[in-house]
Amino acid sequence: MLINLISALWITCAACSETVVIDSVAYPVPEQWCGKMIDSTQIADKTKLVRLPEQYCYQDWGIYLERNTRDALVAMAETAAKDSIQIIVYSGYRSREYQEHLIKKRLDTGKDITNILLMVAPPGYSEHETGRAVDLVHTGTQFAESPIYLWLKKHAAAWGFVETYPNDSTNTIYWEPWHWYYRGKPDK
Ligand SMILES: [Zn+2]
Repeated sequence: MLINLISALWITCAACSETVVIDSVAYPVPEQWCGKMIDSTQIADKTKLVRLPEQYCYQDWGIYLERNTRDALVAMAETAAKDSIQIIVYSGYRSREYQEHLIKKRLDTGKDITNILLMVAPPGYSEHETGRAVDLVHTGTQFAESPIYLWLKKHAAAWGFVETYPNDSTNTIYWEPWHWYYRGKPDK
């Protein structure tokens, strides 16, 4: 009895109590995203986003970022270019609504929500909603073997960029070597 009670309590505590609503349906937040909801104070003010210059954007897509992130990214990309490294951004700011739309599109093709959320953050959990995250043009995890990635591993921290979902034991989310987040310039 006591053991049953303890195990029931343990299961309750271990499961994530967070839910996320997609297309009016509430889904439990998978374990790997549990506790990782973006703080509301970090969500970008849409009216203050600035456009990334076209030479750093994939094709002619309009990519918007929080101003300090844009400035740091441009400065980093200019320096990288001197080392013959071309930094091209595929995705920057995305609204919560757009994140929901991305998931809904995948649900509509018959994909399972658990599988979708392995690769795509639930709405409210994506760093892209802060305007401080970028996805660089990549070809899957092969990107991790590219000179761009090796350059970033060496230099990005000095420009205030960190790899949010690295390939190590501290990370419960699928490895995304192309995803970088602007944490701010380190103190000199
Ligand atoms: Zn990303």
